[in-house]
Amino acid sequence: MAAIPLIVGCNMKAIQILEKQNIQVVEVDEPKMRPNHSKIKVLSMGVCGSDVHAYAGKSPNVQYPVIIGHEIVGEIIEIGEGENPRQLRVGDRVVLNPYLYCGTCYACEQGQTNACSSLKCLGVQTDGAMCDTFVHPTKLMIKVPDTIDNELGAVIEPTVIALHALHRMEAKAGEHVVIIGAGCIGLLTAIVAKAKGLKVIVADVVDERLEVATSLGVDGTINPMKENAVEKLSALTNGRMAECVCEMSGSAAGVRSVLDYAASTGRIALTGWPDREVELPTAVITRKELKILGSRTGVTEEFEEVVSMIEEGKIDPRKIISRVVDFNELPETIAALDKDPGMAIKVVALR
Ligand SMILES: [Zn+2]
Ligand SMILES: [Zn+2]
Repeated sequence: MAAIPLIVGCNMKAIQILEKQNIQVVEVDEPKMRPNHSKIKVLSMGVCGSDVHAYAGKSPNVQYPVIIGHEIVGEIIEIGEGENPRQLRVGDRVVLNPYLYCGTCYACEQGQTNACSSLKCLGVQTDGAMCDTFVHPTKLMIKVPDTIDNELGAVIEPTVIALHALHRMEAKAGEHVVIIGAGCIGLLTAIVAKAKGLKVIVADVVDERLEVATSLGVDGTINPMKENAVEKLSALTNGRMAECVCEMSGSAAGVRSVLDYAASTGRIALTGWPDREVELPTAVITRKELKILGSRTGVTEEFEEVVSMIEEGKIDPRKIISRVVDFNELPETIAALDKDPGMAIKVVALR
């Protein structure tokens, strides 16, 4: 008997990295529904530094081929059976919390699901959502109100990373925060910190980036390549130094400088990912009794908080979007960002 062709898959387009420096629009099967999951039609996608790193072959966690994309807004087209804690409905626009966690490890037990010992990020350890439709746990979908358009919605996820660093340090209004690294996450941290009433000082070795920080209304900038950073920070803080320091550059020099920028008993959040070990004079940590905190990604409640802050007009993360492209332009855009990371702070793609 002749073989009968079985189900013909519904094909969809996706942005896939096939191997190092080979990124294409490909056709793949549409994802299947699962219990506790819902299906979205993808509407907008932010391009993250980690997407560019994956393309460049600099991301140790990525296994090719991989569909990238984790900064995602979509419209729900099907609600799966099971968990739906925020009573989402078909037609709702949502942002994805793209960090899949196990729910049973020590970190998850404490509610720090962002630091799950087997955390999987979309587009890194598992396929991402730069595609037509995507199936994701319903509990990791957060409703986006009509006042936040798709373009702006695509920067909610990186803004969560910024907010999480401030939460980790328990940063309070009136305190000084030094943000090391004026890239996307650093600038978003400046925006959120200003909204929370902190005095914000941004350090970077590129003057153009400091100019962007200045345009966001920060209270001071430091270029440690061109000026004595410790003296300048001392002047900006009336000799106190910073109660809070966030390292967002991932550079060895940036990591090393946190100990000098922090006030005695200050709190430090390490968000950047250095690509090698960094030596630190730990006697300074002891002498100043510093609190050094890791900070990565964020939890679902922080997605809700960022959505509220935007909706209430407290923050405007749109200021860091420097380019909007079409979905089909993503491969060439990501290749161009690898060649020239300075060409845009944040790129967002729309469907
Ligand atoms: Zn990202
Ligand atoms: Zn876990």
